[in-house]
Amino acid sequence: MVYTDGRFDSRLALVCDDTIAQLVAADEVENVIRLTGRALLPGLINAHSHAFQRVIRGRTEYRTANNKDSFWTWREMMYSAAVRLTPEDVYDASRMAFLEMALCGITAVGEFHYLHRAPDGSAYDDPNLIAKQVVRAASDVGLRIALLRVAYARSGYETEVSPQQIRFIENDPETYLKNVGQLIADLERGSAPTGMEACSDSSGVIPNGRASADAWVGIAPHSVRAVPLNYLKEIVDFANQQRLPVHMHVAEQPAEVSACIEEYGRSPVALLATEGLLGGRFTAVHTIHVTPKAVHMLAEASAMVCACPTTERNLGDGIVPVDDFFKQGVRVALGSDSHVEIDLLEDARELEYHLRLRRMERAVLAPDGSPTAREDLSASELDGAVLNTHASALAARLFACATMSGAESIGAPGGALEPGRAADFFTVDLDDPSIAGASPDDLLSSIVFSLSKTAVRDVVVGGKRIVADGRHARQEEIVERFKALQKKLWG
Ligand SMILES: [Zn+2]
Repeated sequence: MVYTDGRFDSRLALVCDDTIAQLVAADEVENVIRLTGRALLPGLINAHSHAFQRVIRGRTEYRTANNKDSFWTWREMMYSAAVRLTPEDVYDASRMAFLEMALCGITAVGEFHYLHRAPDGSAYDDPNLIAKQVVRAASDVGLRIALLRVAYARSGYETEVSPQQIRFIENDPETYLKNVGQLIADLERGSAPTGMEACSDSSGVIPNGRASADAWVGIAPHSVRAVPLNYLKEIVDFANQQRLPVHMHVAEQPAEVSACIEEYGRSPVALLATEGLLGGRFTAVHTIHVTPKAVHMLAEASAMVCACPTTERNLGDGIVPVDDFFKQGVRVALGSDSHVEIDLLEDARELEYHLRLRRMERAVLAPDGSPTAREDLSASELDGAVLNTHASALAARLFACATMSGAESIGAPGGALEPGRAADFFTVDLDDPSIAGASPDDLLSSIVFSLSKTAVRDVVVGGKRIVADGRHARQEEIVERFKALQKKLWG
């Protein structure tokens, strides 16, 4: 059973090498691998990750003394880990995060990477030393990676840099862009990670400045707080010339919005819009504390949003107004961000669930014209096919956030099972207790709203199987190394 074009089809076979050649009737091809009892879906795209933050999972879930705990107190704890990690530690933590991603059906990741310097703030001989460890980790697990290299110049408007941020800082756009150029060149040469292929993509989707279909670079000004306007303009210009994705944290916290208004007299989205910095390759991450006018500005510029609901609920950030984004035609991708959990379909369903809790309604994000309550349907519409088409419309919309929108956001070559796209996909066991008994018509809703990630059986990237029968070939070694790292960090 193959998910393509918004529905499952049990008669289709996928013909591919590293790219999907065609989808044809299964009885027309020889040497078919029959996926009895399984459904095949396009690989999930995780558009926002900080892989090293996997090391603080479970270590921040308590109240600090005399404090109201918030994003800002969590950030202090995150920094205390960030200042200690060696490049090899980052490799081990990243492999652990990427392994868990692979096991839940993720085939490409956008890694928002900001550890550039040594713990004492000095520059490494290679300014991309740690970035390359992260790319190597993705390569060793088998995921595609957009290394979204972060620009970070200051702690905030009229705020001294905290000693805990010295590993992130590149003071000026010239240094930042020189280092980005070096990273692109090194990935092109394939010199960085062992096993990386600096190949060209036969589908021709690789933009200028892109290293390969396996690993490429994006521009990531951290936030309006951390990057002043002149710096921001220069690096976004570079990204546009090179046709690279641009990712930026936007309006995650009310304090960030008020500081931006104090500095520039405009909210972060208004600043970006009026300075001409938004565009089709721009993804605003979080974008929680925004007005309808700001949503309109994002829509006008064809900019995208990346929501990270599992992290946002963990940090108490707030709720992404995806209802407004969809109403105005803004595409929404998903990210597991801090990795408090890694389950991209959980992020997909939370887009909807957070709004249900706020509005005390159901099926908030269902596309217009898809009634989901039986009383909304006329007798003729209760005919099975019509009802089922309607019933899966919401799930299809959420699933597209986890696949196609993610691919568009980070520039990944997958996102859908269509000829010409990368052969990146995963299978689920139809007998898994979490989805058993679903019919083809309600299978996608069952997967999006109820799938346990243990139901994921095979994960294939570029035609290469990286997870077989729910296991990754290097799983034990990756887990053991990570356990040793945690012991070293925390005792
Ligand atoms: Zn983030």
